[in-house]
Amino acid sequence: MQAAATSESYFQTQLRARASNDAVAAPSGIDHLVNAAAKYLPKPQVTRIRKAYEFAQAAHAGQARFTGHPYITHPLAVASILVEMRLDDKCIIAALLHDVVEDTSATQSAVSRHFGREVGYLVDAVSKLGNIHKSHHEAQAENLQKMIFAMARDIRVVLVKMADRLHNMRTLAVLPHEKRRRIANETLEIYAPLARRLGMHEVMVELEDLSFENLYPLRSACVRRARTKFALNRKFVLKKITDRIAKAVHGANIEAEVFGREKHLYSIYRKMKDRHKSFREIMDVYGLRVIVRSVDDCYRALGVVHGVYKPFTDRFKDYVAIPKSNGYQSLHTTLFGLDSIPIEVQIRTREMDDVASHGVARHTKYTGSGTGSPRESLSERWLQEVLELRKDAKGNHDFVEFFKTYLFPDEVYVFSPDGDIYTLPSGSSPVDFAYAVHTDIGNTCVACRIDRNLAPLNTRLETGQTVNIITAKSASPSPDWLNYVITNKARSSIRQALRANQRSAAIALGTKLLNQSLAHASTHIRNLDFRRLRRVVRGLGFRSVKDLLAAIGRGEHTGYAVANRLLAHKDPDFSAVPVEIDEAVGISQRDHVIISFARCCSPVHGDPIVGHVSHQRGFVVHREGCPNLVEIRKRAADELTPAKWVGMPDQEFQASLKLEAANDSNALSDFASVMRQVGASIKSLKVESDDDEQALIDMEVSVRGLAQLNRLVRRIAAIPSVREVRRAFR
Ligand code: MN
Repeated sequence: MQAAATSESYFQTQLRARASNDAVAAPSGIDHLVNAAAKYLPKPQVTRIRKAYEFAQAAHAGQARFTGHPYITHPLAVASILVEMRLDDKCIIAALLHDVVEDTSATQSAVSRHFGREVGYLVDAVSKLGNIHKSHHEAQAENLQKMIFAMARDIRVVLVKMADRLHNMRTLAVLPHEKRRRIANETLEIYAPLARRLGMHEVMVELEDLSFENLYPLRSACVRRARTKFALNRKFVLKKITDRIAKAVHGANIEAEVFGREKHLYSIYRKMKDRHKSFREIMDVYGLRVIVRSVDDCYRALGVVHGVYKPFTDRFKDYVAIPKSNGYQSLHTTLFGLDSIPIEVQIRTREMDDVASHGVARHTKYTGSGTGSPRESLSERWLQEVLELRKDAKGNHDFVEFFKTYLFPDEVYVFSPDGDIYTLPSGSSPVDFAYAVHTDIGNTCVACRIDRNLAPLNTRLETGQTVNIITAKSASPSPDWLNYVITNKARSSIRQALRANQRSAAIALGTKLLNQSLAHASTHIRNLDFRRLRRVVRGLGFRSVKDLLAAIGRGEHTGYAVANRLLAHKDPDFSAVPVEIDEAVGISQRDHVIISFARCCSPVHGDPIVGHVSHQRGFVVHREGCPNLVEIRKRAADELTPAKWVGMPDQEFQASLKLEAANDSNALSDFASVMRQVGASIKSLKVESDDDEQALIDMEVSVRGLAQLNRLVRRIAAIPSVREVRRAFR
């Protein structure tokens, strides 16, 4: 252990020395940068690049890096990485200025004023990208990559950030241990895969190997040594193979370069670790690359190569016809080599090779000299170029998916207060977010904060926001939410919760109503015979007791009618629904069911009554013998229930009387005096007279109950002019 620790620190010392070496930490002076840029950019742009350098130098004056070099060496190094990629002037300027807003007193508006809004935007976006790591969660590297894209909008933001990271990685070894580990891990998780997605193979390789070296100085040094030794042993055989293939290809009149290629350290290490392979197993293959001049030559060279060594039949890949999602194109084939060691051959054109190394950066070779509209982003150009490249390729869904998801996302990425990232479809609301976090959070959500400010629950979320859902234990979803949630999860959860709430409320009420009715027979639902209960439930067409209780709660059955069925054998007298009236007119206090009186027969308190449940009118009470009952009985005999009056209400009832009387002018005053005597009143009076002799009178009277009505009828009958009086059914 001791020895390992000692050698580890030896390698660390080496790493640190290399990181602070001028060639790595401060590789470029401004003159060198400007000269390199002048090779592909017009003069006015080069002048602006120098101006940007002067601006950055003034802003960073007095600042130094961990390596001991003046701070300006860093933006300069970042800019020269992008010049090597031959990117446009705005990208280079943004690279020179990428740390001024964050780390100096210069403001974004000053940057915009001096170098234009486009550069201002790039600098701002790169600064923001730097901040999202602060809430980065390990398991979400994938999401974070997406987020970087979504926030970037312009691929140049990602390119500047990538170059920034690359230079920071090159000088990483000078940082304290903890910071070094964190940044190296982050690079492996986020930036290297991002570089791969963008087809920037060279950058990816360098980022991975730098991370590997900084995380595991000893292991990486071991792998490097082993690789060097191995290559040395293989040198002679590799040269023999290379020469043989080159000779054959040239012999077929194909202009080509053939050379061996090396695996990078981290890929060897990862294969050993992940696939549990030995170093020898991984290295037991020769890698060759053949660079030709045209697509045609690719296929011709392939034929030649297959003539030199026999190919493995199942190891051939045509990425020329069907490029990889990041635009990579090449022919891959594996041959049986000498001593049965396989030879992996990649055949491609110079342009394809360039793309394979630099990916998106190579597709952005426009010089910013005014081609195309300025609003057209670099990524869109890239998309078009790559689409152009693979015009003939068919049905590569992965490719389409890549652009949809990564460059033009219809998704938003938001943070939870803990820094977890959630991916939601764009247009999502805080309620969608709440349900994405957890169904319970959604169901109890009452309000939300977006970036610490209270916001309405129907706000459209935007990428990068931090959403904090405020919940309350007793809260429940509002039907209103259905108007703006867009995720299926939220929608179905809200519906389910609403249904469940309604149902549980209905069951609770139904249970209460049934128990109240059962209490008349001094019993309780718990005391009922289970088999009988089940029979009644089935008999009424329900599948479970809960379904029946819910139906009672919704007013589809009366508790009393059900109790009646349940107790029929026990208590023969228990056969009528109590119609109890209190001051809140029409509500039976006992059953909490709306009671209404059928207008056809106008029952009054004391009449023998029956009732049935109507969905609109609750429990509708009819007088026994009402002609309409015949119809109702036919329709649903089950629904018709005997009812009985309970208590004496402080309420008046309407009753209809039909009279036949002599057409006597005194009749009206006679009626009036009878009413007074009995204490009733006339509500309406309709007189129809056929002739002078006889009148037919429809009279609506208001009485307190049957006894009073009967008294009234007797008195009316006693009036001399009245021939007949009877209660009417309408
Ligand atoms: Mn930087």
